[in-house]
Amino acid sequence: MSIALHSRFAAELPELTVRWKAEEAPQPRLLVDNDALAAELGVDVDWLRGPDGVALLTGTQVPADATPVAQAYAGHQFGGFQPRLGDGRALLLGEFEGTDGTLRDLHLKGSGRTPFARGGDGLAAVGPMLREYVISEAMHALGIPTTRALAVVATGRPVYRETELPGAVLARVAASHLRVGTFQFAPLLMQATGNTDLLQRLADYAIARHHPAAADAEQPYLALLESVSAVQARLIAQWMLAGFIHGVMNTDNMTISGETIDYGPCAFMEGFDPETKFSSIDSWGRYAYGNQPSIALWNLARFAEALLPLLGEDTEQAIAAAEKTLGGFQGVYEAAWTDGMRAKLGLSGAPDEAVAPLIQDLLTQLHQSRVDFTSFFRRLARAARGDAEPVRGEFIDLAAFDAWLHRWQALTPDPEAMDRVNPVYIARNHLVEEALAAATAGDMAPVTQLIDAIRAPFDERPGFERYAEPGPKEFSASFQTFCGT
Ligand code: AMP
Ligand code: MG
Repeated sequence: MSIALHSRFAAELPELTVRWKAEEAPQPRLLVDNDALAAELGVDVDWLRGPDGVALLTGTQVPADATPVAQAYAGHQFGGFQPRLGDGRALLLGEFEGTDGTLRDLHLKGSGRTPFARGGDGLAAVGPMLREYVISEAMHALGIPTTRALAVVATGRPVYRETELPGAVLARVAASHLRVGTFQFAPLLMQATGNTDLLQRLADYAIARHHPAAADAEQPYLALLESVSAVQARLIAQWMLAGFIHGVMNTDNMTISGETIDYGPCAFMEGFDPETKFSSIDSWGRYAYGNQPSIALWNLARFAEALLPLLGEDTEQAIAAAEKTLGGFQGVYEAAWTDGMRAKLGLSGAPDEAVAPLIQDLLTQLHQSRVDFTSFFRRLARAARGDAEPVRGEFIDLAAFDAWLHRWQALTPDPEAMDRVNPVYIARNHLVEEALAAATAGDMAPVTQLIDAIRAPFDERPGFERYAEPGPKEFSASFQTFCGT
């Protein structure tokens, strides 16, 4: 049973696509497939694992009526505008309907050079593709909206980076691949044609696919902006609550759907510090943990700029309307963040006036002592059960923490509720690196075990103890990840 693929994006927005084919994979070998996701999508796992499935997963054999395309987009990368990015090493195979009837993209990464490849080789290595698989599954298990990975297939083709590495293709499933950068490309075409037709078709497509309620609003395109701003505000709050650092929040890596996309130099923070960053190419810390909400808003302002021609005849008025709409971002973000922190602290019933200052004081103390942001909350739940020593042991200024603990306990926190929202297992950086190194050398066992741990992040299980512990200090201090590999 193959997957029935539509080509709606290619049919409705041909100006944003180039028909393209995947490169042959000399010796395809399925490294990991996502049975849970396949089942959710109604895809036959046995078929997927067979030769025809693997041929689809590498793009070398697609259904007769499918139209694989490379998508065009622009984007601000580290603040600088690049008018022509696009899928340099990726292909949209098409869209398909899952068992729930919603349309999803099936997309490949690492499938060969396209006309957007610029200097790149169009390829991807096993390690980074497995990283995307592992971290996107971890995010999904934490309840954070994200694109997912259906499979990683080793191609048998070497990839040359600093050393020779085994090549791979990732098959990605996403609500769509519409990005802020997609809208930043449309106006360029508008200049060529002198009208708003393409931009409008793109906005209508985005509304129909992701924000259908906007269609009924008095000003649908302003409602689209408001809706994208809201889903992004809630998404970034979830990142912050999980200690997730995306690492490369360029506008081409920000979706219109509100899913997390593009797992390059991303990682989970361990010791709490808002300045934490891991990306080797982010020397200024533009995309550091604590900057993520303001960067998201900056990206949304670029989205608003791209939409301006649709927001009214009068530019001044359109700008004022867009500014007012984006003024709502902060409130949505703060509400989501405060609700999330309240849940993490087991204080669902407590009043805002009591919770807000408690959160602020806690963050100051977590920062001062660089406390591990994940294990802290599980240890804190133990304190609610009467065993405060493990969590007290994390703080330098014990008197200050004891005072905080006292105020917190006075609000009668619920430890069971805490354990339902605070993970034991996240994809810790040292474990991810260790697992990817093993996979690159041919041993998939550590990746498989890591996936087992992070798929059920809230259930503490024997045998997984090391997955709950922060990495060695020496490792964490110098840890960097590399993007574009
Ligand atoms: P990313 O940082 O992964 O979002 O990539 C930014 C842009 O570079 C996208 O347009 C990618 O398609 C492109 N790109 C990244 N790596 C490669 C590669 N090895 N070959 C061709 N294009 C690439
Ligand atoms: Mg990208």
